[in-house]
Amino acid sequence: MVFEPGISYKGIENTALLFTFYEGKLLVKDNGGLIGISTVSDLEMLNLKFGPRHYLGNLDSIPCYCTVLYNDSSSLTEIIPEGISFRQLRSLLGIVDDDTFRVAGLASQIINWDSTHRYCGRCATPMEIKEDERAKICPGCGFVSFPRISPAIITAVVRDSSILLARAHRFPPGLYSVLAGFVEPGENLEECLKREVREEVGIEVKNVHYFGSQPWPFPHSLMIAFTAEYAGGKINIDKKELSDAGWFSPSNFPEIPTKGTIARELIEWFFKKNR
Ligand SMILES: [Zn+2]
Repeated sequence: MVFEPGISYKGIENTALLFTFYEGKLLVKDNGGLIGISTVSDLEMLNLKFGPRHYLGNLDSIPCYCTVLYNDSSSLTEIIPEGISFRQLRSLLGIVDDDTFRVAGLASQIINWDSTHRYCGRCATPMEIKEDERAKICPGCGFVSFPRISPAIITAVVRDSSILLARAHRFPPGLYSVLAGFVEPGENLEECLKREVREEVGIEVKNVHYFGSQPWPFPHSLMIAFTAEYAGGKINIDKKELSDAGWFSPSNFPEIPTKGTIARELIEWFFKKNR
């Protein structure tokens, strides 16, 4: 599949995919375990109250839109036929294909932005959609608001044939992952990485190399991944953030993040190197 992001798109076909959210969950079709996104024609006959619609781009030449439902939950239970359900976006990771997940993530970000930027932050006038780019504009003062994206670094720190993995308090039991943290204003990505590793586990790193990136729509992050080498120091965890951290070799591995995450890709990169 190929996804081409887009803005201003006129007209809507029956075959268009409608990424429809209700209370933060995505409406999906379940065809005997095969999860898919509903088309306009799947939904238009149901008595649904749709909110504003946003064009997202084309997935394999099929236009994609996102919207929200304004129905109350008791009427929804009556309207929604068998085979349609609402799922947490995160639960679809690895269940739908990567491109569909990426568009669903974009949809979720746009819906989140739309609902949290309804008024101008400068003069409180209701915002309007800007037609020529993905933005909102204030008809009162001209202030333009773009969807919020929060960059975060994520890094595999390697020491000989071991990788640094840590457990944040919020992780499910037993799960360890690579370190990650949000970029602060005025900071470049390398500085952010070195600061995060120093703050969270008290060690220094060198030889930082770009690895890849992944939009992470929970709710609006962009994960920028790097590999790095241990340069000095002893593990001393920040107890507010982490419950444990340590050096792991391929022979003593804990539970790691699910496939489809860039954290998993970083850890698999380490596995391949140390097989
Ligand atoms: Zn304004």
